[in-house]
Amino acid sequence: MTHRVVNFNPGPGTLPDEVLVEAGEGLLDYRGTGMGVMELSHRSKPYEEIHFGLMAAIKDLLGAGDEWEVLLLQGGASLQFSMLPMNLMTSGRAAYTVTGEWAQRAVKEAKRHGTVEIAATTEAEKFRRVPRADEVRFEPGADYLHFTTNNTIYGTQWPSEPPAGDTPLVADMSSDFLSRPVALERYAVIYAGAQKNLGPSGVTVAILRKDLLARAKSDLPTMLSYRTHADNKSLYNTPPCWAIFISMLCCRWLQRQGGLTGIGARNEAKAKLLYDELDRTGFYRPTAERESRSRMNVTFRLADEAQEERLAKEATAAGLVGLKGHRAVGGLRASIYNAMPVSGVEALVAFLRDFEARG
Ligand SMILES: *Cc1c(COP(=O)(O)O)cnc(C)c1O
Repeated sequence: MTHRVVNFNPGPGTLPDEVLVEAGEGLLDYRGTGMGVMELSHRSKPYEEIHFGLMAAIKDLLGAGDEWEVLLLQGGASLQFSMLPMNLMTSGRAAYTVTGEWAQRAVKEAKRHGTVEIAATTEAEKFRRVPRADEVRFEPGADYLHFTTNNTIYGTQWPSEPPAGDTPLVADMSSDFLSRPVALERYAVIYAGAQKNLGPSGVTVAILRKDLLARAKSDLPTMLSYRTHADNKSLYNTPPCWAIFISMLCCRWLQRQGGLTGIGARNEAKAKLLYDELDRTGFYRPTAERESRSRMNVTFRLADEAQEERLAKEATAAGLVGLKGHRAVGGLRASIYNAMPVSGVEALVAFLRDFEARG
């Protein structure tokens, strides 16, 4: 029998058992082709069904119409920190909100391509919260406003979009992509590395409004131009076929969970279960301010580091893995992405209660 732990890793993160079992069928003989998905030609019919199947499933889940282009890229969300300004900083000025390390990295790359205006930052408060709407301010005429929907390291999440007015809104959704319903009409670009909430590492999804794409710069290295990938349906070069296959299966799985409404309600219930336990006595100390709490990455501390270390160690021994906080902030973090079952969170809550009782 295969042994599976409850996996709270922040990324790559846990995948649904159901999907992994299905994936196994694609390993040796995909649908009678006598080849595994990794061995199919990316120009073949069976592969095209997988490729376009993922694009269609993402659009279906988001309710995205024909005005949207879905790109399947490589290089992680980190490459989008560069591709985005290269393609879309057309007048040379963009606004960024800074809510954590990933947002800082996005700013660092954007500065190589133009002027970056910081529209809001909570750095002085050690990123314990995201900015309130009234704190977001930037000069009119910016090419776009960028924000990080969920701050994986600090355990914060924007409860709603920052006010962008007529400025195109761009989101790094790497750690909460497809985790809840999205008001798509407020966005111009969404991008996400797959390995947190969508599938395995290796594929990065970018969703762009076509009118913006039409205005993108074109004097760029071929592989770094959004238009190359749009014009070639993300088949300009060899795509990461296996990662796309698993991501496609994950999207089908999401559809079976009731789409974004279904998974969103379950994610909310999971987060509530965990925060309620952390708030119960004061023994555990959630690090994010209440209004900014993430439903994906639940960060908390104990009285001292030695106790935190002991908790992580004992949890691992009990089959609850990956609870150590990011090295930049310490503490503890439970990542409870889409694929984390309610039973996994229940097991963690029971463990936390027992750990507290034992002192
Ligand atoms: C993990 C993460 C990234 C970096 O993703 P890569 O795919 O490793 O480049 C960027 N943004 C956020 C919000 C993340 O959580």
